[in-house]
Amino acid sequence: MIIDGKKIAEELRYNLKQSIEKLPDSHRPGLSVILIGEHPASQIYVKNKEKFAKEVGINSQVIKFAEDISEEELKREIIKLNNDPKVHGILVQLPLPGHINQKDIIETIDPNKDVDGFHPINVGNLSSGNDAMIPCTPLGCYYLIKKVISNLSGLNAVIIGRSNINGKPMTQLLLKENCTVTIVHSKTKKIEEICQKADLIVAAVGNPKMVKSNWVKDSAIVIDVGINRIVVDNKNKIVGDVDFENLKDRVKGITPVPGGVGPMTIACLLENTLKAFNRISGSAPH
Ligand code: NAP
Repeated sequence: MIIDGKKIAEELRYNLKQSIEKLPDSHRPGLSVILIGEHPASQIYVKNKEKFAKEVGINSQVIKFAEDISEEELKREIIKLNNDPKVHGILVQLPLPGHINQKDIIETIDPNKDVDGFHPINVGNLSSGNDAMIPCTPLGCYYLIKKVISNLSGLNAVIIGRSNINGKPMTQLLLKENCTVTIVHSKTKKIEEICQKADLIVAAVGNPKMVKSNWVKDSAIVIDVGINRIVVDNKNKIVGDVDFENLKDRVKGITPVPGGVGPMTIACLLENTLKAFNRISGSAPH
C-alpha cells in the first residue's frame, strides 16, 4: 500500500477549515512565520506554509529579514509577536544564519505559541507524556502510520536518525503507543540487521535511498522523511531515504517522496496553530 500523504493532508486541512470557518471573522488563528535570508528551500517551504494557512482561514504573515539581522533584533521581533494577541503561532524558519544562536532563538518564543514544538518546555512535556506542541513532521508521520494500523502496541519500531526535529520526538510518540523503539544513527553498527526485525521503520536521515529493499520485511510499514535533491540524467530529482521503487509493491505500507510526509508537515503546522489558538483563547487546556 502506498500511503498517500497528499490526500491525507488534504483531509486534515479540510477538517481544519471546517473548524476555523465556525469562528467569527474577527477572531481567527494567526500564524507568523519569520524568514531570514534567501535560502532557496526555505523560500519554497514558507511560501507553501502561507498558501495553505490562508486556504484554511488562518491569518498568516511572513516577516522577512536580511541575512545580516542581529540576534538581538531578531529576539526583539519574536518578543513583539509573543505579546501580540492576534498572533497565536510563531515559527522561525530554520536553518538560521551562522551568527545567530538557534537554541536562544527557539527559547525566546512563547512556548504556547511555539507551533514547531521545538521549545524545551514542549520537548519536556512531550517526553513526560503531558499535552505538548508536537513537532510537525513526526506528528505527520504518526498520523500516516495510524492510517495504516490503528493499534501499534508491541510493534518493533526502528527510527533512523536522532535529530531534535524528527527522530527524538518520533521516539516519544511511538513509545506512547507502546511500540518497542530502537533509534539508530551514524555511529550505530549493523543498521541493516536492526531494520530487518522492524515492523515499522521511520527514516529521517538525509541520505538518498539508504534503506534498501533487503533491509525491510514484507509486513513492515516504512515512513520516509528524507528529502534529498539528486541529479539523474541531467535532471534534478527529489528522492527520500528509502529505495521506494523496490519496496512499494511488497511492504504493508510505504510513503512516497514527494507526496508522503512533506504535505503532512504543513498540515500539522496548521493543526498546531489552531491548537495554540484554542489554548490561548481558553477553549482548550494549557
Ligand atoms: P539531521 O539533523 O541532519 O539528522 C540526521 C540524522 O541521521 C542524525 O541523527 C544522523 O546521525 C543520522 N545519520 C546520518 N547519516 C547516517 C547513516 N549513514 N546511518 C545512520 N544514521 C545516519 O537531519 P533532519 O533535520 O532530521 O532531517 C532528516 C531528513 O529529513 C533530511 O533529508 C531532511 O531534508 C528531511 N526533512 C523532511 C521533512 C519533511 O517535511 N518531509 C522535515 C524535516 C526534515 P548522528 O546524530 O550520529 O549525526
